[in-house]
Amino acid sequence: MKIDLKTSSPEQTEQFAASFAALLKAGDIITLDGDLGAGKTCFTRGLVKGLGSDAMVSSPTFTIVNEYEGGRLNVYHFDTYRLGDSEEFLMSGLDEYFYQGGVSVIEWSSIITDIIPAGSIGIDITGNGDERYFSVDMPEDRFDALKTIVEEMGS
Ligand code: ADP
Ligand code: MG
Repeated sequence: MKIDLKTSSPEQTEQFAASFAALLKAGDIITLDGDLGAGKTCFTRGLVKGLGSDAMVSSPTFTIVNEYEGGRLNVYHFDTYRLGDSEEFLMSGLDEYFYQGGVSVIEWSSIITDIIPAGSIGIDITGNGDERYFSVDMPEDRFDALKTIVEEMGS
């Protein structure tokens, strides 16, 4: 089930992500798609903060995955931009992270769509200037909770 919201600043995106983090459970997989500069890493930064970690969040472009600890759930932050395809992802054993009891956040997930487990959370980001439009595909069991968060943000 999908819900949309707009943010008008990086701070607001982080704030939304931090609220969103409260809905997360062990084993969740979040796909983040949108152009370069859409706000995928900004969203991840807010999410990690919202889980209570003070880890520094930066783009894992060169390392493919960064791990952030110290919060309610560990976060495995992927950037698959430099991967050719899902086979390369699997050959590197990166899918192991999906089953470690943390939260996997995957920037540029479209490269590995075919191996994303069912029931994942899908977020698409578009926009320009300071405005960003988020389309969140949320599992039904947590949709109402997300709707409440979105409504509280007043968009
Ligand atoms: P991505 O990881 O998708 O490439 P980043 O999160 O690294 O994007 O960068 C997003 C850029 O867009 C930052 O420079 C940020 O300051 C800017 N920005 C402007 N408005 C917003 C907004 N509403 N939400 C998120 N980022 C925004
Ligand atoms: Mg990024």
